[in-house]
Amino acid sequence: MQLYFPSPYIYLSLSSSLYLLPASLLCLFFSSSMAENSSLFLTYLIALFIMSRLISTVGYRLRDDHEAIRLASTDYGHIHSENPAAVLYPSSIHDISSLIKFANNVSVPFGVAAKGQGHSTRGQAMARNGVVVEMSSLRNQHGSSGIEVVSTTSKDDVTVYYADVGGEQLWVDVLHATLEHGLSPVTWTDYLYLTVGGTLSNAGIGGQTFRFGPQISNVYEMDVVTGEGDFVTCSPNNNAELFYGVLGGLGQFGVISRARIALEPAPTRVKWVRMLYSDFSAFSRDQERLISINGRQQSNALDYIEGSLLINQGPPNNWRASSFFPQSSHKKIISRVNKHGIIYCLEVVKYYDHQTESTVDKEVQNLLNGLNYLPGFKFENDASYVEFLNRVRSGELKLQSEGQWDVPHPWLNLFIPKSRIADFDQGVFRDIVLKRNITTGPVLVYPMNRSKWNEKMSAVVPEEDVFYTIGFLHATGFDEWKAFDEQNKEILEFCVKAGIDVKQYLPDHKTQQGWMKHFGSKWKTFEKRKALFDPKRILSPGQRIFQIQA
Ligand code: FAD
Repeated sequence: MQLYFPSPYIYLSLSSSLYLLPASLLCLFFSSSMAENSSLFLTYLIALFIMSRLISTVGYRLRDDHEAIRLASTDYGHIHSENPAAVLYPSSIHDISSLIKFANNVSVPFGVAAKGQGHSTRGQAMARNGVVVEMSSLRNQHGSSGIEVVSTTSKDDVTVYYADVGGEQLWVDVLHATLEHGLSPVTWTDYLYLTVGGTLSNAGIGGQTFRFGPQISNVYEMDVVTGEGDFVTCSPNNNAELFYGVLGGLGQFGVISRARIALEPAPTRVKWVRMLYSDFSAFSRDQERLISINGRQQSNALDYIEGSLLINQGPPNNWRASSFFPQSSHKKIISRVNKHGIIYCLEVVKYYDHQTESTVDKEVQNLLNGLNYLPGFKFENDASYVEFLNRVRSGELKLQSEGQWDVPHPWLNLFIPKSRIADFDQGVFRDIVLKRNITTGPVLVYPMNRSKWNEKMSAVVPEEDVFYTIGFLHATGFDEWKAFDEQNKEILEFCVKAGIDVKQYLPDHKTQQGWMKHFGSKWKTFEKRKALFDPKRILSPGQRIFQIQA
């Protein structure tokens, strides 16, 4: 037997066969004392056997070198870390199917996590001792861009536009590819360097959600590799249980390999307005009034509505839209923030193109008439559609250049029913956030309409017709995130004590009770779908909802 260790793989020559072993397993074995080792040795032999068979299944696209493991054991949160045994860099969806089939058929099944960009913050795309699938390696392997734009005519003679998009694709690439055809998806996240599979596993929310629904409400069809490795096409009329399960399903039922995304003719430019409030009830009343004008085809509606807090630290611009407020207004904004502790910022957008260019200002004015923002605190910008949608990118690049992007992100994202949002403002923004005085990153506050969500999908929202999304998008130093997590804990405890029916978005629950409460009346369906599509419970173990089943 001969051992040698070329990077990135470890080859073990046994008789005439060439086997590939995960270095992490070898290190684990050789670093433990012999006394502890009889069971470890057995584990090692099993792992050796499994890995060698796995290699014969998926070939040398499996890596276990330090760099591959390091990348797969970290995410945007920089809080949680789990080492996988290996990382698959698939060259086709069949590699993923083979891996999942294999993971099911070994005596000790192992976890498999699709990783989009790893922009999760709590290890959701990790797989301890399992295999992480780097979906990014599928980009540009389809023989095309992985994004195909189609226009077709329906039975009733209506033109329907859609894009067939690989689950590994970035939304920013979907934007550019569809714009080449004068088309665009209708609903977006604030940040576009997220994958289609990653946001569809959550919901994909942003300022367009009040009118067009979350991204999961704008999917016609998907190809999915289930937890048993089967390749299934699903839609509302075909394998509907899988379709609805996967949308908002936290990666539990299958790996999305293709999604058919609804498109509409794209605008070219946007009118972009921010208005500041010192009074929360005026702010929320105005937001709610604006989101009530929400018909998909309604021309006199806004296209985007969000809101955020300006708190007493730092300049009013942040990474979400680095240069909105003119420098000349900073002093007066900061003075208001200092006076009131919190200033609420309502942000709206109306799209336009050459046909509506001459009327858009009037339309915006009509929509904003009668709003109760602070006089003199309305700011307007005009931007191209792409500049607006990709507004976070410049902030990201700036933070990256300062080494401030890859830092801990103890985020907390919540949905709060409208009837309790005033209590949340008082109990959380004023009594917790202001008092603790540590919050620096963006804090988002904006309402959306439940009617735009589909109850059959896995995503969970509060029961009321209107609910708010709250996002504490903290960025902290490596020694500081625990203080922010303490604040997050206090916020959640406040909600429980105050009887607020809060739901986490991008949820993180530590116990199965926590998950059962999270899903509420949907838990039974969620569990049933898991048994149907991933009976050994191997998919997306980093969500920590189910235990892998032997
Ligand atoms: P990952 O983090 O890699 O994966 C997320 C989960 O989905 C994991 O469980 C993973 O196993 C699973 N998964 C990944 N790919 C697939 C696939 N193809 N099939 C099945 N399961 C899969 N979210 C919003 O809704 N709105 C926002 O405005 C928004 N803004 C953000 C801004 C920033 C700067 C960041 C970092 C995140 C933001 N997010 C937002 C959160 C984002 O939606 C999540 O991070 C989400 O997980 C997508 O990230 P990802 O593509 O990197 O997926």
